[in-house]
Amino acid sequence: MLEIDTRPVVLDQFTVDETGRAGRRPRGVVYPVTVDDVVTVVDWAREHRTPLIARGAGTSLEGHLLARGDELILDFTQADKILDISPGDFTATVQPGVSRTRLNAAAAEFGLQFTVDPGADASLGGMAATNASGTTTVRYGGMRANVLALQAVFADGTVTRIGRAVRKSSSGYDLKDLLIGSAGTLGIITELTVKLHPIPEWIHSLRISFPTVADAVDTAVEMLGAALPVSRLELVDAPSMAAINMFRGTAYAETPALFIDIESGSSAAVAANEQEIGRIAAAHDAIEVVTARTHGDRHALWEDRHNLYFAVKASNPGCRFMITDTAVPYSRIAGAVETATRLGAELGLNITVAGHIGDGNVHTIVPYTESEYEAAQRFSDLVVRHALEVGGTATGEHGIGLAKKKYLREEHGAAVDLMAAVKRALDPLGLLNPGKVLDVNPGNPLPNGS
Ligand SMILES: Cc1cc2nc3c(=O)[nH]c(=O)nc-3n(C[C@H](O)[C@H](O)[C@H](O)COP(=O)(O)OP(=O)(O)OC[C@H]3O[C@@H](n4cnc5c(N)ncnc54)[C@H](O)[C@@H]3O)c2cc1C
Repeated sequence: MLEIDTRPVVLDQFTVDETGRAGRRPRGVVYPVTVDDVVTVVDWAREHRTPLIARGAGTSLEGHLLARGDELILDFTQADKILDISPGDFTATVQPGVSRTRLNAAAAEFGLQFTVDPGADASLGGMAATNASGTTTVRYGGMRANVLALQAVFADGTVTRIGRAVRKSSSGYDLKDLLIGSAGTLGIITELTVKLHPIPEWIHSLRISFPTVADAVDTAVEMLGAALPVSRLELVDAPSMAAINMFRGTAYAETPALFIDIESGSSAAVAANEQEIGRIAAAHDAIEVVTARTHGDRHALWEDRHNLYFAVKASNPGCRFMITDTAVPYSRIAGAVETATRLGAELGLNITVAGHIGDGNVHTIVPYTESEYEAAQRFSDLVVRHALEVGGTATGEHGIGLAKKKYLREEHGAAVDLMAAVKRALDPLGLLNPGKVLDVNPGNPLPNGS
């Protein structure tokens, strides 16, 4: 068995997640490097009836990693080898602890990129386990679309390869996509083969400001309807722009805005697309269109958007943060943003709204003090219920974890029983991340009662 680190000073680092939610001190932490290490730990855990929580970069937002006290943390930060880059196949094979930025840096040497971008520098294993997506999903898809094959260790200690490194397959049940998004509750991912994509020769970025959210949303949907080659399409509201101005020292219009990338293989095509976007935006009363065409200018434009979370944090000192993550049909996006803004005002919360609008994914960032905790919870609940009412989902990309479990049946109905049957079949002793996603073998309650 690997050495188990049980020093309280180390374990205390695993008691709080990125959003400040608290769990208990876990029993210990181990750092596997190879698949054999993982098998050893899983076999030991089964023998000692000790639950396991796999951990990547620790950036998840829904309490996925919180411990009830008896778990062993399987920390993958040392399983971080890029095993292969195959430029001819446009694929890479990595260990689960490899971060997306490190893979991207290595792929760039071959003119290739790994496109899934959740903002945070997450690990490939954690990203697969949450079915992460982000700014580029509108063009390239999320983790399910970009992972071709996996190696996983199951609760009985078997090592299984799932999927093939090919662009399509109709073979058998799709266990790869079952494991992706399962939050470490069905198996431990020990290797991934992912798609790489050519870095386009021509990319232009735009920031367009609008008088209202509805104008911005209408522009976005019309651009999608015109089949423009958009590879990023992000919405931020007026309070988000104010936070960005304060954090970055800029003086942009503090109105709703779209951040956009368009890409193409030719300069003429990208210029024509840029012109067409300008025309659509003007028809929706755009206030200002800023275009970035060089690498440096594009980088600066996107730095503003990528720093939004940190800008909101800086604007709300002493607060904790909740992030909602609903996704709704395109026709419901403007309504979802309006509803969130109204609810925030009614509950006296200083919320900001931003979203991967090309995927209908609407985030709100909710700063709250201790005395505002109940209001923030109520806000999050009402936002999710609104999304479910209009045919959306409680979580577009962050996952169910602990925090969104209560919506699972409302969203999926009897399919939740099938999910529970799958969990029992693959993990009959309830050893893998117990109490997350589903309440099968939930064990002791967490301090917050989840
Ligand atoms: C500022 C900020 C912005 C964010 N923006 C986005 C966004 O745009 N899109 C998005 O999707 N997410 C976003 N997130 C959330 C987070 O980055 C993602 O959920 C990410 O995929 C988590 O990866 P991780 O390596 O940090 O995983 P962790 O947080 O370490 O783990 C997440 C889950 O995966 C499981 N897991 C980890 N490794 C393995 C493994 N090897 N095998 C099996 N299970 C495993 C864990 O048990 C846990 O359930 C954001 C987070 C922050 C802080």
